[in-house]
Amino acid sequence: MTEARAVALRLPSLDRVLSHVAFDTLKTQHGHAAVVEALRGVFDALRPAMLDKTLSAELIEPTALAQRVQAALKQRSQSRLRCVINLTGTVLHTNLGRALLPPSVVQAVAQAAACPVNLEYDLDEGGRGDRDDLIASLICQLTGAEAATVVNNNAAAVLLALSTLAGVDAPQGKVGGQVIVSRGELVEIGGAFRIPDIMRRAGCELLEVGTTNRTHARDYSAALGDRTAALLKVHTSNYAIEGFSASATEAEVARIAHAHGVPMMVDLGSGTLVDMRRWGLPAEPTVRQSIEAGADVVTFSGDKLLGGPQAGLIVGKRQWIERIQRNPLKRALRVGKLTLAALEATLRLYLHPERLTQELTTLALFTRSPSEMAEQAARLQGAWAAALGSRWSVRAQAMHSQIGSGALPVESLPSFGLVIEPSADASPAPSVQALAAALRQWPTPVIGRIRHGALWLDLRCLRAQDEATLLAQLPALAAGAA
Ligand SMILES: *Cc1c(COP(=O)(O)O)cnc(C)c1O
Repeated sequence: MTEARAVALRLPSLDRVLSHVAFDTLKTQHGHAAVVEALRGVFDALRPAMLDKTLSAELIEPTALAQRVQAALKQRSQSRLRCVINLTGTVLHTNLGRALLPPSVVQAVAQAAACPVNLEYDLDEGGRGDRDDLIASLICQLTGAEAATVVNNNAAAVLLALSTLAGVDAPQGKVGGQVIVSRGELVEIGGAFRIPDIMRRAGCELLEVGTTNRTHARDYSAALGDRTAALLKVHTSNYAIEGFSASATEAEVARIAHAHGVPMMVDLGSGTLVDMRRWGLPAEPTVRQSIEAGADVVTFSGDKLLGGPQAGLIVGKRQWIERIQRNPLKRALRVGKLTLAALEATLRLYLHPERLTQELTTLALFTRSPSEMAEQAARLQGAWAAALGSRWSVRAQAMHSQIGSGALPVESLPSFGLVIEPSADASPAPSVQALAAALRQWPTPVIGRIRHGALWLDLRCLRAQDEATLLAQLPALAAGAA
């Protein structure tokens, strides 16, 4: 053994290896340059072994090198954006792409992607149309608003609306005007969306009123002046102020705004088109409620509770929506045909609310019965325990999932899942971090969460097809991945 080590092997010459017949097909398939680059990568990975004098002859045989190059090229050609299995317990997980589109919606997107569509073409007149016209009436029907438009996401919707109501594109006399907001509503949403920053970018001035925990209608009235351009209410999506707190209602704020001759805007964040309580879910304000309270402009996301594609919906009084549509920023923030196809197909599902829990994927996930998830956990517990071996303990356990994306921050949904932790007698204890990392390296990565020194896998989002994929991957664990 020591003798084999005594011969310090060196990496062969790149050109010599490349000219070996084992590389012929690779070069035809992937091109010379890609193969050279991949081989360089393989050499880089072997260099430490060469310096340690632990390089073995088998490792640097041309056929072995060709295999490694092939594996590297295959990995590179794989899409970087991959399907993962979300067992985090957060249904609308922003980092995992939020809402899952229902199959009927996916079909609508695929169809629109593959053919020319009447995106901005009026089929009756045979001339130019407006992309908003395709879905504006549907949105109005579902929200009770007079008019509607759609942009890239809700952050864009807020920026565009503020810019139109009170910023650089505001009506004469209101440019750079003040927008009055409660201190308790100056939210920061994950990913650097802060109301004060957006306000500055939109070209308007923020005027805070009230205190963090209490803002009254009279605070808004007292702040009104010549420079007031709009009053804004923001849904405090990702936190709740509890205890000694007070806020003015949307109706009160709208009344104050209108008495002063300025518009009132609501950033609902998630918003929903239906009262979620009908399915035993916690209450979340509906868009219709804000419209009925007198809001002139309401903005909300397409991929939060709505369960559709990433989009920002802006609804409200015709006068303001038309101004928003004429704002040059609208062109920069507009959506494409794929988004519109997905949004239209999603909104159509809302025309039959009685079928929504079956047809809207996210709602189906929110309303999964705990007993069904408990059965699923019992089914999976044995398979995981067998794959992981005696160093781990796996138990099925009740847990709580989150809706996510800022909707209903304090409420949670009773759920069921697996808790995986090192066995009490395992010495040394296996690493939970390493186990979580191994699951992330699977062909279809599984994402859980680490809590109290254990890996928690919440099964709420494990659909039947995902369960099969997961079970097929489990043997990799037994093969020593963790
Ligand atoms: C989520 C949210 C936003 C941002 O919406 P995106 O669709 O993610 O751009 C803005 N405001 C509030 C209150 C939110 O909850």
